[in-house]
Amino acid sequence: MTKLLARLVSWRLQYVLVIGFVITTAVTIVVGTLMTYRVINNYLESAADARVGRDMDLANAFFNTKMHDISAMAGRLATGRLVRHNLADASEGNDRASQAILDEIETEITNLPHGTQRFAMITDSLGQGVIGQTRLDEHLRLAQRGTDWSTLPIVADVLSTRRAQDATEVVPAPMLSWLGLAEQARIPLIETEKAAPEPFDPREGTAGLVLMAVAPVLSEDGQLLGSVIVGHLFNDDFILVDRIKEVAGVDTVTIFFGDLRVSTNVLNEQGERVIGTRVSQEVFDTTLVGEEPFAGPAYVFNQWYNTRYDPLFDHLGQVVGMLYVGAKQAAFQQLLDSFRNQVFLVAAATALLAILLAIPLAWSIARPLTEMAEATKKVAEGDWSVRVPVFGRGEIGVLAESFNTMVETLEETHDQLVQKEKLASVGQLAAGVAHEINNPLGSILLYADILRKETPDEAQQQQEDLDMIIRETTRCKTIVNDLLNFSRQNEVLVRETDLNTLLEELAEEISKRDLFEGVEIIQDLNPDLPTIQADPLQLRQVFLNLVNNAAEAMPTGGRLTLGTRKGPEPGMVTAYVKDTGVGIGAEHMKKIFTPFFTTKPIGKGTGLGLAIIYGIVKMHRGQISVDSEVGKGTTFIISLRQTLPSRADGANGTVFLR
Ligand code: ADP
Ligand code: MG
Repeated sequence: MTKLLARLVSWRLQYVLVIGFVITTAVTIVVGTLMTYRVINNYLESAADARVGRDMDLANAFFNTKMHDISAMAGRLATGRLVRHNLADASEGNDRASQAILDEIETEITNLPHGTQRFAMITDSLGQGVIGQTRLDEHLRLAQRGTDWSTLPIVADVLSTRRAQDATEVVPAPMLSWLGLAEQARIPLIETEKAAPEPFDPREGTAGLVLMAVAPVLSEDGQLLGSVIVGHLFNDDFILVDRIKEVAGVDTVTIFFGDLRVSTNVLNEQGERVIGTRVSQEVFDTTLVGEEPFAGPAYVFNQWYNTRYDPLFDHLGQVVGMLYVGAKQAAFQQLLDSFRNQVFLVAAATALLAILLAIPLAWSIARPLTEMAEATKKVAEGDWSVRVPVFGRGEIGVLAESFNTMVETLEETHDQLVQKEKLASVGQLAAGVAHEINNPLGSILLYADILRKETPDEAQQQQEDLDMIIRETTRCKTIVNDLLNFSRQNEVLVRETDLNTLLEELAEEISKRDLFEGVEIIQDLNPDLPTIQADPLQLRQVFLNLVNNAAEAMPTGGRLTLGTRKGPEPGMVTAYVKDTGVGIGAEHMKKIFTPFFTTKPIGKGTGLGLAIIYGIVKMHRGQISVDSEVGKGTTFIISLRQTLPSRADGANGTVFLR
């Protein structure tokens, strides 16, 4: 990870930024998307669970209503006057009595709503069937005498306890066949995926699951006369499940006898009801064996449903079957899938947008830095003119600004260094040459002088020639002296120096010289000026050169000002030499401190004056600057420190600087 980050940072900033932005957004979006998806998923799952719970409540309500309906009918028949009066006679085979009871039953059965399947029958006090009637669609079927119903536990219980009962009961095939329902109850078992290896109840396939109510028939004096049995066979009858589906809006409903689907609206691929198939082992174990409701996804016939299975009990409280409601997961899954697709689509669009925004953003951040990097390269190649654009006042703007300042400072320092270097090499050369020439020049001058004195007055031509020799030789000596001064700059003999006194003496001296005729000399000296540590002889040279230049710039006269003041910083003093001369053209400004640069005719200037001044000022750790306007005049300003750092090995106030 750290390696990866280190590699990333070594790439171009623009790419690093884009990649950084994109990774950040992508991670945020992916995490956000996953969380949103989970929340939606959980919500939909709990909504699906809530839905099957509600569906089961509705299914149970329908189931119980039906049960009440059947119970009520059994109760009415058992307490009806006709049944009570005629039951004893009918048991003995009296046809008239049987007919009277049958009329009563028929009235109840035919009054039932269209399409109802139901049977109602009477037993004698021993549980022998007396008479019964079954309604199948719109047909009525009569059952007369026969079949021992006391083998059915619920009937036996009612006869012995004389209390009515209702429950879901398993009715074996022989009894059903007396009612003409055996054929309808027979459901061949179909091999089913995931079902238990053996059926829950061995009678599955032949016996019927019946919603049944049994009520005792008692005489006025409390004698047990028999019982009324009313029932509804669930096998192959879909009235209840379809009613729950249609009225309550439940997706699928099934009634199980044991683990066998006997009444259902779950359909197979051909659109047929899947009666005869069996429940999955998982539900078998939970609901039939464990007698607990099962809730959750379950494999129903051939696909997954969100389901609920409630056990159905007989009158003894034993599990005989199940009531099931469920919704196909496919529909739920579809909803979830479309949610997921939308969420991911939005995420992808956001990521794309982020990339599109990141590119220009990264570019705008990286561009100033790239420009600076390129500018640095140019500076390194010696191009001092480069400047980078400054954007605003932010960190990058400040960086750009300081970069520009840095280049300017570097340029100045560089120029000064070059100047110093030049001065140093020229100085060495000059010192060597001047030394060799100085002595012969002295001899020439000496002998020329002697010759001049010995020459008779008549020899005027010779005198003039000798004067010429003397004049030119003197000029040579001046140049040589200048050169020697120039070369001696690397040694500063420090004394406590009073600049005011130095300048006053200088003014006094020059005022007598021809060169300063017509020049008004003004002194602007600050009386509070502190003394400074400096080499007074060298400083004298500096100001002498400056005033000479000033006078030469004012051939027709003018005003020369010598001034001093404190500053510009604490611990510093400043002196200036100002003239009202011709001024310096901008094109010369850069060159005036260069050795041998002169604008004066040959024989007039050496071009060494300002170079010497520059060297001396630098030796004193000072600054020199020029302010000039062509035609108006020039001011040279020199700032010096009051104290100079002395070297431990510098003997007697001597500072060696190089
Ligand atoms: P030089 O005086 O021998 O020419 P300097 O080094 O003293 O050499 O001066 C160099 C050049 O600077 C001069 O030739 C002149 O053009 C210019 N200069 C110096 N001082 C002044 C001034 N006060 N007014 C006008 N130009 C000046
Ligand atoms: Mg000069």
